[in-house]
Amino acid sequence: MALPLPTSLSPSKVASFKDCALAFRFSNIDRLPEPPSPAATKGSLVHRALELLFCEPAPTRTLATALACLDQARAEFATDAEFVGLGLDAEAAAQFAADAEVLVRRYFTLEDPTTVHPIGLELRLEAQVGSLTLRGIIDRLELDAEGGLVVTDYKSGKVPGVMHEQSRLGGVHFYAFLCERVLGVRPARIQLLYLSEPVAIIAEPSAQSIRGLEQRTSAIWKAVERACANDDFRPRPSPLCNWCSFQDYCPSFGGDPARARELVGTG
Ligand code: SF4
Repeated sequence: MALPLPTSLSPSKVASFKDCALAFRFSNIDRLPEPPSPAATKGSLVHRALELLFCEPAPTRTLATALACLDQARAEFATDAEFVGLGLDAEAAAQFAADAEVLVRRYFTLEDPTTVHPIGLELRLEAQVGSLTLRGIIDRLELDAEGGLVVTDYKSGKVPGVMHEQSRLGGVHFYAFLCERVLGVRPARIQLLYLSEPVAIIAEPSAQSIRGLEQRTSAIWKAVERACANDDFRPRPSPLCNWCSFQDYCPSFGGDPARARELVGTG
């Protein structure tokens, strides 16, 4: 039986089809619930603190202001389902807060926020690729000294190895593509700021890199359409399985995908 196609996806969700088609299906078609993870929630908290920092006038964007912004973000998250769902006890919550503060402090070793000229924060953009609506959120869009657009993406996870660097940059090229489509301007620079190391990975998108991205996205999307038409989503075991919430339903781990369909009422 053919499965319904998702009508809109984020760039990272589209790319995740290549990591494991079955996990893609569980997440984006069956829409199985996924428990919040401490690492992702910590990333969301730090993103919010940096968003608040850039709402302040440039000269006041000091470390002290950033830590006050982190306090405000923590107060907002205290009642948020993503944070509450982690079920942290007092000790784990204190460690969580301390780890978030380390990331905010490390941000200051990557750039001086008083010199940044933001023109958009947590910017929601969408563009059409064939029948798919691609949706993305740009952490920060700014102008450089020459008036060029710069897309900045904060990362709270590990820096990718050389082998994976291009694929991670591929994610940012998605945002360059969205920018060009929606704003009609190709960004002069895209940068990933890895707060955990800290390391900045910087690339200059070209007409060719954006065209290549569009072609790769169209090809992946055609593969998704074929998989939906044939109800053929196969597991692809890899080290990513260690972080997968769907092991109970995955044949590679002795699970039965039909149980997932029963759970969501599509079986
Ligand atoms: S456990 Fe691994 S193979 Fe199975 S669905 Fe998850 S990522 Fe795919």
